[in-house]
Amino acid sequence: MASQEIEALAGALARLPGLGPRSARRAVLWLIKRRETALDQLVGALQVVRDALVECDVCGNVDTSNPCGICSDPRRDPRSICVVEEVADLWALDRARLFTGRYHVLGGRLSALEGVRPEDLAIASLLTRVAAGGIDEVVLAMNATLEGQTTAHYIAERLEAYPVRLTQLAHGLPVGGELDYLDEGTLAQALRARRPIG
Ligand SMILES: [Zn+2]
Repeated sequence: MASQEIEALAGALARLPGLGPRSARRAVLWLIKRRETALDQLVGALQVVRDALVECDVCGNVDTSNPCGICSDPRRDPRSICVVEEVADLWALDRARLFTGRYHVLGGRLSALEGVRPEDLAIASLLTRVAAGGIDEVVLAMNATLEGQTTAHYIAERLEAYPVRLTQLAHGLPVGGELDYLDEGTLAQALRARRPIG
């Protein structure tokens, strides 16, 4: 029978995406055996995340500054916004280093099944950004899933009234593909070949 503390840690880890109770317990044992190296490093990294990371008020990215490094970088094109579902998608796209504009993180996707409505996502703040002017292009970089595409079409409709070019990632993304899991070459290609929304 493991101690209460170990059970508590394993329980917390088991809630992480991709980890179940068994692998969480294994991770705890692994960490205990490497107290000096891996455990201290993990504790330090967690502390930094807790103390220093904030959500950007402009785009929803997670960074140590607010506005985030991308929003406050003068070399990034303020006339172009790439809309993504999650912060992980932003990071994946930015790793591909092809998009020189700024981002907008929705915080999810519309889903009738999960009860996610437009007001649950950062859509109003996107419209506010576009309505403020100075935006030429909005790239809708939703995942190639049914819900991602439903979300893209909803946003495209809401943006129709504004004088912006609406584009989306090129087909060629695997159907059901989540951006976060794609390699950088595929992402770069989808971004380079982006096309107007029909
Ligand atoms: Zn930002």
